[in-house]
Amino acid sequence: MSDFTLILRRARRYPQGDIVDIGVEGTRIGAIAPHLPTSAPTELDAAENLVSPPFVESHIHLDSALTAGEPRWNESGTLFEGIQIWGERKKSLSIEDVKRRALETLQQQAAQGVLWVRTHADVSEPTLTALKALLEVRDSVADWMRVQVVAFPQDGIYSHPKNLELLRESIALGADAIGGIPHYELTREDGVTSVETVFELAETFDRLVDIHCDEIDDEQSRFLEVMAACTIRRDLGSRVTASHTTAMGSYNNAYAQKLMGFLQRARLNLIANPLINITLQGRTDSYPKRRGITRVKELWQQGLNVSFGHDCICDPWYSLGTGNMLDVAWMGLHVCQMTGRAEIDACYEMVTTNGAKTLNVENEYGLEIGKPASFVVLEAIDPFDALRRRARAKWVVSQGKQLTFDST
Ligand SMILES: [Zn+2]
Repeated sequence: MSDFTLILRRARRYPQGDIVDIGVEGTRIGAIAPHLPTSAPTELDAAENLVSPPFVESHIHLDSALTAGEPRWNESGTLFEGIQIWGERKKSLSIEDVKRRALETLQQQAAQGVLWVRTHADVSEPTLTALKALLEVRDSVADWMRVQVVAFPQDGIYSHPKNLELLRESIALGADAIGGIPHYELTREDGVTSVETVFELAETFDRLVDIHCDEIDDEQSRFLEVMAACTIRRDLGSRVTASHTTAMGSYNNAYAQKLMGFLQRARLNLIANPLINITLQGRTDSYPKRRGITRVKELWQQGLNVSFGHDCICDPWYSLGTGNMLDVAWMGLHVCQMTGRAEIDACYEMVTTNGAKTLNVENEYGLEIGKPASFVVLEAIDPFDALRRRARAKWVVSQGKQLTFDST
């Protein structure tokens, strides 16, 4: 008698590429072998298609998702018009409104094989509605989707006297990570102080750090070096993530090279959001027009952990998007010119295993015996094939259960 509740048969295992059966016992992977001679109540025949650990969405804003056009569309396409429009929309946020849109977005992502999500919650409005709603969502979906919530002071920590207090309150309410937006603080000095404050809070309250850092084409925006310094001095390493860092795409090479050495010492994670970076940045350029994305290829070549996020789905910053991480990686490999075979595989890692590193969840992630039985079967033979055709997710299994959401 086997204790398997589900067996996935004849699956091409990522990253090894061999054909295996995966036996699930309850919520965990119980066995992986070329052939399991036992049976299970549910058996799925992968027919030698790719089985991968789930996609990881390492950077998204669920509180603003699915609000594009409310109250108006972002006609300039800039980050800053997006912040203004969101400022208008967020006055009418309610817990139910945020929960409904967040849940719908998570279901769309789960149907496409995303089972880990790090969302930012805007904590610069006085009721903390977005944060409270997303914490409720995090807890309510935990048996099929694992969510981390970042307390994100969208309008800056020092732009309003109450904002630091709101950030502290967000930590007390249970945010998993602390964010910042130093390039949007009123002065450079405020930006530096904001980064130091985030690190101080993170260490005091034992939280992760994920800062929107240098999301601008300004080659003088240099808060990533402040983040690297704080990470080195506090020895926080992979508990720290710098999101966006698009200014790095505009730095001169002498400075970028020096900075690269500091980043290697810091060992922090970096997230690029290719769909959003390529559309929001470069808006003040005529020609030549910058791509507005950080130096993904060079960071990867230096052995740093880089992941890709979707960032926005149908919101004031980006009116498109389906939540599909293959779309994100596909855009990333184009914009970053990572079209070598190994580079394409690396882009797949940036929406899977690298994302798990960013989220600090490696212990719970991967196709290994004893780990959660969470995986996606794609209609593709390998990551290259999956990316080339943006292959459909045939089956998604989360913590041992096959999910049955409608695919988008
Ligand atoms: Zn963001």
